[in-house]
Amino acid sequence: MKFLRRAFTCAGLALAAAASLPAQTTAPADLLLLGRVYTLAWPEPSADGTPSPKAPFTNGAWHPDAEAIAIRDGKIVFAGTAAAARAYAGARTRTITAPGGGVIVPGLVDAHVHAFELGASLERVNLVGVKTEAEAVDRVAARARTVPRGEWIAGWGWDEGAWANRYPDMKLLSQRVPDHPVYLRGLHSFAVWGNQLAFQKAGITASTPAPDGGEITKDAKGQPTGILMNNAARLLERAVPPPTQAQLQARLLGGLKALAAAGYVTVHEAGADSEQMEALEALEKAGTLPIRVYAMLAARDQALLDRWLARGPDHDPSAMLVTRSVKAFYDGALGSRGALLLADYADRAGQRGQRDATFHADALAKMLKAGFQVSIHAIGDAANREAMDFIEQNSGGFPGSLGLRERIEHAQVLAAEDLPRLGRLGIIASMQPSHAVEDMAWAEARLGPSRIAGAYAWRSIRRAGGRLVFSSDLPGTDYHVFYGLHSAIARQDRNGEPAGGWRPEERMTAEEAVRGFTTWAAYTAFRENITGTLAPGRWADVTILTVDPFTASPAALLGGAVHSTIVAGRVVHGG
Ligand SMILES: [Zn+2]
Repeated sequence: MKFLRRAFTCAGLALAAAASLPAQTTAPADLLLLGRVYTLAWPEPSADGTPSPKAPFTNGAWHPDAEAIAIRDGKIVFAGTAAAARAYAGARTRTITAPGGGVIVPGLVDAHVHAFELGASLERVNLVGVKTEAEAVDRVAARARTVPRGEWIAGWGWDEGAWANRYPDMKLLSQRVPDHPVYLRGLHSFAVWGNQLAFQKAGITASTPAPDGGEITKDAKGQPTGILMNNAARLLERAVPPPTQAQLQARLLGGLKALAAAGYVTVHEAGADSEQMEALEALEKAGTLPIRVYAMLAARDQALLDRWLARGPDHDPSAMLVTRSVKAFYDGALGSRGALLLADYADRAGQRGQRDATFHADALAKMLKAGFQVSIHAIGDAANREAMDFIEQNSGGFPGSLGLRERIEHAQVLAAEDLPRLGRLGIIASMQPSHAVEDMAWAEARLGPSRIAGAYAWRSIRRAGGRLVFSSDLPGTDYHVFYGLHSAIARQDRNGEPAGGWRPEERMTAEEAVRGFTTWAAYTAFRENITGTLAPGRWADVTILTVDPFTASPAALLGGAVHSTIVAGRVVHGG
């Protein structure tokens, strides 16, 4: 990358540099991108975040290191000055200019998503903000006109808190929508509202007993009114048939299109089961995947593991769908006290969380030995320790023995003595910056003042020699990258609280935050030699942002948006 930096930082050399290019490389480009470019092709920052001396960082300020990118046949053919890029402009070259104040960066990667769930949430009838029962029913009736008779309609977002004194019933909903079973979840997920047909299909009658921790709301005659509270919601939920393969494919496509619009060129799907893998493979075969998918097989689906064990991991990294990873669960979540801790919860004596019943060490070890990357969900300090023990025992016990870049998903709470093990074993901590911000209000209550030091400890992990990769774990949280970057850089909520950031010693620099969604993700997927940076020969996977994450204030970051998304030279969003 020495050439690029020289070409840009020393304008006088630009012409000479361009002239030195072999003649055939100046054939017209398909696409020219002009604007302020951060190639990320300079060396890594140190573990404390100090930029490399070769980084475009002068007197404490970042500046772009190129002005133009030329793309041909899905690959980058040039990165450098705008003047030199003119050589690539032909009659059929399309040009995209980044908006003023915006930047061109390597294509963003979200390394832990649930795209099917995102698609499902986008399909639901949106009832957020509806003021009256009639308005909610109108929206469901409008959807019913586009859905084949007899198919379930799901909705979400009516406010069971605000409506607590005047819950709707099934009458109007059943009159207006008689031919589709309807299932409408409340905004806070403690009530569900259904119509007559849904209750019929679920077999819920006057004589159905309410399950423990649930309530079937009934009228004066003892008949169900249409509202199920808390655990009783399951009575309706279990009547909803699993999606068909066609529905799954539509759901996946909807989720991936939303992710393309959010600037992502690649997502890592964190645990696909047999049906979901079938949908992914169908879209890949049809050529309709809008962005690249790096799939993790769901370890709880043993039939799926058996099939892939026979087949072996994918090794063609340039396919739109690559499957070479397995996702397993070791424990639960911290908020619900399901995370497995070495000592009792600080706010619940006698409780240390649980191991996940679906973690089968033997089955997973087989996958590891067959060359699959293993990605283990571990939240508590005990779960993280035991996950590392598992990896150490099954990879021969010495560093880099298999080179499979095993991952711990979340790596939320780590004991101090386990921090250096990540680096020593070559394990990647796959973390969600937004989780720190969303959990900060109660995490210390669960863990107490000393264990909190090893929680959401990005900087401590880097200092101890560990690798990171960042993601959103959508759809549980806002997956827009500026929210993730803001969380990583500021460790503050959207209102800038707390001042200075929560446990600010663990903050990331802007460069590290951007790398968490680009170059570090490339490494995690074994692609650091073909993507992650903007340089000739690399994939033409590029994101154009409206705000410069290297120089924006935290508040300005939150106002950022995605201008364009380019995958393998194709503009999949904006342009
Ligand atoms: Zn997840």
